[in-house]
Amino acid sequence: MKKIISCLVGVTASLLCASAVNAASPERFKGHMMLLADDLLAGRDTGSIGHDFASLYIASELQKMGVAPAGEEGSYYQIVPFKQATLDMSSPKMVVSDGDDSVEFEFMQNMLMSADINNETSSVSGELVFAGFGIDAPYLNYSDYENIDLKGKIAVILSDRPHDFPSEEGSHFRRLIADSLVKSGAIGTIVVSTPTSEKVSPFEKRKLYVKTPSTRWLTKEGEVNNGYPELKGGATLSLEAGKTLFEMAGIDLEEIFEKIENNESLTPRPMGLTATLEKKSVHSETTSPNVVGVFEGSDPELKNEFIILSAHSDHIGVSKNSVLKDNINNGAMDNASGVSTLLEIAHEFHHAKEKPKRSVIFAFVTGEEKGLLGSEYYATYPTVPIDNIVANVNLDMPILTYRTNEIIAFGATHSSLEDTVSSTLLKNEMKLIEDPMPEQAIFVRSDQYSFVKQGVPAVFLVPSLATEVKDALAVSPQTFLAKHYHMPSDDLNLPIDYEWAAQFVEINYAIARDLANAPERPAWNSDSFFSTLGKD
Ligand SMILES: [Zn+2]
Repeated sequence: MKKIISCLVGVTASLLCASAVNAASPERFKGHMMLLADDLLAGRDTGSIGHDFASLYIASELQKMGVAPAGEEGSYYQIVPFKQATLDMSSPKMVVSDGDDSVEFEFMQNMLMSADINNETSSVSGELVFAGFGIDAPYLNYSDYENIDLKGKIAVILSDRPHDFPSEEGSHFRRLIADSLVKSGAIGTIVVSTPTSEKVSPFEKRKLYVKTPSTRWLTKEGEVNNGYPELKGGATLSLEAGKTLFEMAGIDLEEIFEKIENNESLTPRPMGLTATLEKKSVHSETTSPNVVGVFEGSDPELKNEFIILSAHSDHIGVSKNSVLKDNINNGAMDNASGVSTLLEIAHEFHHAKEKPKRSVIFAFVTGEEKGLLGSEYYATYPTVPIDNIVANVNLDMPILTYRTNEIIAFGATHSSLEDTVSSTLLKNEMKLIEDPMPEQAIFVRSDQYSFVKQGVPAVFLVPSLATEVKDALAVSPQTFLAKHYHMPSDDLNLPIDYEWAAQFVEINYAIARDLANAPERPAWNSDSFFSTLGKD
């Protein structure tokens, strides 16, 4: 609205008029949403026809907006091969013995297992060794592996981390536990809940995900990525079951929990117990596309550098066994809104008088909900040289049901992107605010992390999640997260504010354009841990 007024009275009328004519429109945004969040697409599950159709729509829109194909073989598509494993719910078995007595832990009562991506029939037996948190983090001067021998043993680890670890780095190292276990020669894992992990991710809630298939992408050589075939079995125990296990070993788990609270070091050691873990899984394979396009830059040199804008196009599909009448998870905010924003940014670039200096890649990635898989595949097999990708701006679940003039850029504090984003926002009468929930480590929990691991500076932008919403017709971020996140009610019945959505597009376009035109390429802050990734 503001621009249209300037158009009539402003001194630089013609310039602003031009931008007003081509500005993002609420109607266009709504048009994308109508299609992407329709029941017909059945929640856009990775590998489903609904997601395939969403991908086709995205590619077709890119074509209309003059964005060139940048997938594989001259197309907009990069087809990602996936392998899935579904657990046979009648099969999991875990028995622990101290030599005299044995205890069987009850699947879905006090013990959970997930499907095995490598073997349809899995079984592992071995001695148990308490291995602390299973974390090896030389950068943080921490290792649970120094005084133990895990070769051929089953590691018992706590589902937590030292509480004095910085949040994002700590989450990063927790994601490397399987790598560390494999390096140590361990053959299986038993994860024990802690009071902290119970708060963050309650055992009862984890039960709901046991039936969800495990999904991994396959490398170009046909190998399962992150398959860890060396780890032949695993289980997660409830708080109570963990106590039983440690009691059998004569170790006081309460004392260990106290040590964690007080940041005292733990003492990894053999437990004098043996365990057998068994389960059966059913395997299948599928494919699902990333859709990628490029808007070529205008500068003869800088056009060889790329800003990559990303948004995941998949969602979680249909809830089975739901008692609700509507069981389609339409994912309007997660992440049809991010996809629509990206499509409208492409529209802005298409109509802008001046082309950006650097090239801009639009990447609509699949498999985010399965574990950031499509973006990880793209970052592993980028369609332009990874060293030429100078920054990633990711959009995941911008909740557009309330207004704010504050934007969060998760991860901004790690790179020069903080300055660029902040100054662009100020020019647009918006403000960059600090991450209001650093303990959640959101920077390592959406698709930007896939690029970060390859050394690309990145941010993940959302409208403030801390805003207090007074408008009675709006849905606040707090309400959205509590009631609609990953629910069938994340649909077009939400009071989506399309005027604000169009403004959100403008802001993101301005950021993308400023990054594409910046004289210097974005850089990690030299003291950030993330500056050390992707360099090997
Ligand atoms: Zn989601």
